[in-house]
Amino acid sequence: MTTKRNHLHLLPEIIYSVMKKAFTFLSIILLMNACNTPPATTDNTEYNKNFDDYKNRFVEQMWAMYPMWATETGYHKYDSLLEINNADYRNHIIQFVNQHLDSLQSFDSTKLSDLNKMDAAIINNFLQLNKFNIEELKAWQWNPSSYNASGNISYMLSENYEPLENRIRNIGKKLEQVPAYYQAAKENIQNPSPEHLQLAIEQNKGGFESLQTTLKDSLGESTLSTDEKTNIVTYLNKAIAAVEDYVSFLKNLKNENGRSFRLGSELYAKKFNLEIESSYSYEQIYDSAMQRKNYLHIQMATIATKLWSKYFGNTPLPEDTLALISKVIDTISTNHVKPDEFQTTIEKQIPELEKFVTDHNLIYLDPSKPLKVRKEPAYMAGVAGASISAPGPYDKNGNTYYNVGSLAGWDAQRAESYLREYNNYTLQILNIHEAVPGHYTQLVYSNNSPSIIKAILGNGAMVEGWAVYGELMMLENGYGNNEPEMWLMYYKWNLRTVCNTLLDVSVHTRNMTHDEAMHLLTKEAFQQNAEAEGKWRRVMLTNVQLTSYYTGFKEICDLREECKKIQGNKFDLKKFHEKFLSFGSAPVKLIRAQMLSDLKQQK
Ligand code: ZN
Ligand code: ZN
Repeated sequence: MTTKRNHLHLLPEIIYSVMKKAFTFLSIILLMNACNTPPATTDNTEYNKNFDDYKNRFVEQMWAMYPMWATETGYHKYDSLLEINNADYRNHIIQFVNQHLDSLQSFDSTKLSDLNKMDAAIINNFLQLNKFNIEELKAWQWNPSSYNASGNISYMLSENYEPLENRIRNIGKKLEQVPAYYQAAKENIQNPSPEHLQLAIEQNKGGFESLQTTLKDSLGESTLSTDEKTNIVTYLNKAIAAVEDYVSFLKNLKNENGRSFRLGSELYAKKFNLEIESSYSYEQIYDSAMQRKNYLHIQMATIATKLWSKYFGNTPLPEDTLALISKVIDTISTNHVKPDEFQTTIEKQIPELEKFVTDHNLIYLDPSKPLKVRKEPAYMAGVAGASISAPGPYDKNGNTYYNVGSLAGWDAQRAESYLREYNNYTLQILNIHEAVPGHYTQLVYSNNSPSIIKAILGNGAMVEGWAVYGELMMLENGYGNNEPEMWLMYYKWNLRTVCNTLLDVSVHTRNMTHDEAMHLLTKEAFQQNAEAEGKWRRVMLTNVQLTSYYTGFKEICDLREECKKIQGNKFDLKKFHEKFLSFGSAPVKLIRAQMLSDLKQQK
C-alpha cells in the first residue's frame, strides 16, 4: 500500500524557542563545570545558532526554487508560481546547489551539535541528488510524464487551506504560465522511453479534463467578480490548448531511438545511494533480499505442511513446495470481511493495536494526536486502497487521517479478489503497517523532532522500513497469538516487500523480462495476476523507490541486533524504539551512527 505523507512539522519560530530552552540548560551545566571545560565549547552554542539560521535560509531559498513542492508541503508564499523547466531554470538550480555546498563546507562540523551534523549531512545529500537529477539522470529529457501541471493545481482546489477565492486567484496565475510550462517540456524532450511517453499522454489529458470540471464548479461557488471569472476561464482555455498541443506533440513524435525504461546499473547505483541513503550498496541489498526470499519459502513450507490436514484432510500433499504453500494461502484467504464491513473493521482494530503495543511495552503512544479513520476523499480515489494523510511541517496540529478506499460500486469478482488479498489476517498487518505502530506512530514521533530539515527532506527508506519492521516486531511479541495462519500470511506479505527489491534491481540493472517478472511475483511470491501486472507497470515507470521498503527494514533489524550485542541484558526494546524514532525521518545510517556512538559513550 502506498502512503501519502506530507512530511511534518515545525515552524522555524518554534524551533528557535525549543533550541533556546535547550541551550540555556546546556550553558548552566557548562558554567558548573567551568574549571575543566574549555571556553571554546560555550562558543558552540552561538555557532549552532548560526547553523540554525543557515538552515532556515536554505529552506526559504529551496521553496523559491521549488514553488510547486512548497505548495504541497503547506508553504503558500509561492502559490502563484509554476516551475518553467528550461535551461535557465536548471542553471539556477545548479547555482543554488553549488552555493549551498559551499555554505555547508564553511561550517566546521566538529563544532556542530550531533543533530545539526545530521542535518548538514541530509542537506548535502539533497543537493547532490538535485545535481545528479539534472546533470546525469536527465529524466527531464526522457520522461515526458514528469511534466503535468494539473496535479498541483487540483491539489490547490481540493485542500481547504485558504479561502477559495485566494486559491482560485493563484490558480489563475498558474494557468497563465501553463503554455510556457509545456513549451519548455517540448523543447526538453529527447528520445523518451516509449512507456513514459504513453503515460504522459494518458495523464496529461485525463488530468486537465477533471481539472476543467472541478475548476468550473469552484468558480460557480466562489464570490469572484464576473470579470475575474471570465479571466480565469480564458487562462483555463489557453492552458487546455497548451496541454492538447503537448499531447499531440507526443503522439506525433517519431521517437525511433526511444530510451529504454530500464535505468541501467551505473545510474541505478548512483540513484540508489542518493535516494535510499543506505550503508549498503544495491548489490548487497539484492543478495540479502535473495537470502530472505529463500528463508521465507522454507518457513512457509513448514507452516503449510503443518496446516495441510486441517484444511485438506487426507488429500495427499502436493509434491511441489510452492504449489503446496499457494494452496494453503488460497484457502486461508477466503477468511475475510464483507465489502461493507471493510472500513468499520479497520476502525475497530486501531484501539486494539494500541492496547497491544502499550500492554507489551513496545513503544510509548502519544494519546493527544488521535488517528481519524475516514473514507478516502474523491480526489484520491483509485490511487491506493489505504493510506495515511499526515499534516505538513507548516500545519503541525492538523489532523492525521487513515484514508480507506470504499468498495462501493465494485463488481462482485473484483471486490472478492480485493478482500481475499486483505483477508482477516493481512488486514491486521496492513493496519500495523499504516497505523500502529507503523506510519502513523512514526509520524507522531517525527512531528516531535525539532528539525525542519528532517521534516521536509525525510528519508523514504527509513519511513517505509519502520512500517515494515513494525509488522515483524508485533508478531515477534505475540501479536496474533502465534497462530500459524497469521505467520503464514505475514510471510507472504513480507515476501512482497522482498520481491519488490528483487524485481526493481533485476528489471533496471539485469534486463529481467516481463515473463520472468510474472514468474517471480505469481509463482514465488503468490500474487494474483492483476496485482503482478500492476507491479510490472510500476517497475517500468519508477525506479529505486521499490527497494526502499526492504532496505529500511533490513537496516533497522541489523541496528537492533547491533544494539543488543553492545548492551547485552541491558537492551530494552521500548527504549530502542523510542530512541530510534526520536531523530525524525532521518536516513537509518545516520541514526545508526548516532545511536551506536551514544551507546559506546555510555559504556
Ligand atoms: Zn470470499
Ligand atoms: Zn508504507
